Amino acid sequence: MRKKIFALTLIAVMMAIASLVGGCAGKGQEGSSPGSGSAAGGNKVTVTMLDVGQGDAILIKTPSQTVLIDTSDKDETEKFKAALLKENVKTVDKLIITHPHADHLGGAATLFKNFEVKAVYDNGQLATPKFYREYQKTILKENIPYQSIYDGDVLDLGDGVKFTVLSPTKKMVEEDNKKLEENQTRKAENLNENSVVGRLTFGDFAMMFTGDAVIATENGIRERHKDDEIRSQILKAPHHGSKTSSSQKFLKAVNPEWAVISAGEGNDYHLPHPSVRTRYKQDGIDYYRTDVNGTITIETDGKTYTIKAERGDKNSDKNN
Ligand SMILES: [Zn+2]
Repeated sequence: MRKKIFALTLIAVMMAIASLVGGCAGKGQEGSSPGSGSAAGGNKVTVTMLDVGQGDAILIKTPSQTVLIDTSDKDETEKFKAALLKENVKTVDKLIITHPHADHLGGAATLFKNFEVKAVYDNGQLATPKFYREYQKTILKENIPYQSIYDGDVLDLGDGVKFTVLSPTKKMVEEDNKKLEENQTRKAENLNENSVVGRLTFGDFAMMFTGDAVIATENGIRERHKDDEIRSQILKAPHHGSKTSSSQKFLKAVNPEWAVISAGEGNDYHLPHPSVRTRYKQDGIDYYRTDVNGTITIETDGKTYTIKAERGDKNSDKNN
């Protein structure tokens, strides 16, 4: 019983923090960033999928902003910090957290401690782990502008670069937060399902970012959006190339030329899954994977793009 009261109190505190933090949110932040000094400069955008083990951390540099999607795993923080320093990052203008799992949010404390973070965006999903509570506390304590983002929201990354959110809807997250409030069981799958999915566009170039989205997420996106709002030359493979994701219908709608997969070498989940790799090949989608190819870098001027990997060949069949 005591345990239950504690849990309920904890949730009440978290909800209060969420609403307070939410209070600092403002779309007025948009486009007003003076830039970080470590952005790409010129008239190009680079997207770097950092090689940080079994977790996601994707660095985006636009001509005037440095943006980070996720912070890798809580057990990979040294690798994560080293990768950011190697990329000459000092300030992150916008941090986007796709969902509160350890392999996406686990490096947040290291990020806040070692780098300046100017604004934070996530899906408003509440969670119980310590790394999540610390993340919320830091945002509040350091008064970092924060905003929950949902389907239809657009983040202005400067110089014509946009990040358009395609999922989740606010309703999806609210339903799940209610379950937590009522002390009902939530599955890890629920958090994955509500991952922030967004499409970065710059001129003719588009790339889809998916967090750990699952097939239900993919179906929802296809139902709510037309194909031309989804189509992208590059797809960040959802959920580390797991078979819970990358449905045939979603791949058809995105119609990518390339997929980039983040997976830790020899990971316990044996990702990327062979069936997903086969599906990509059958659909003529080339891929690089961080466990085999190391850091993956995409560069675009808004007309064409290049994609290169630190090592190895594309479309590797290596099984983890
Ligand atoms: Zn993950």
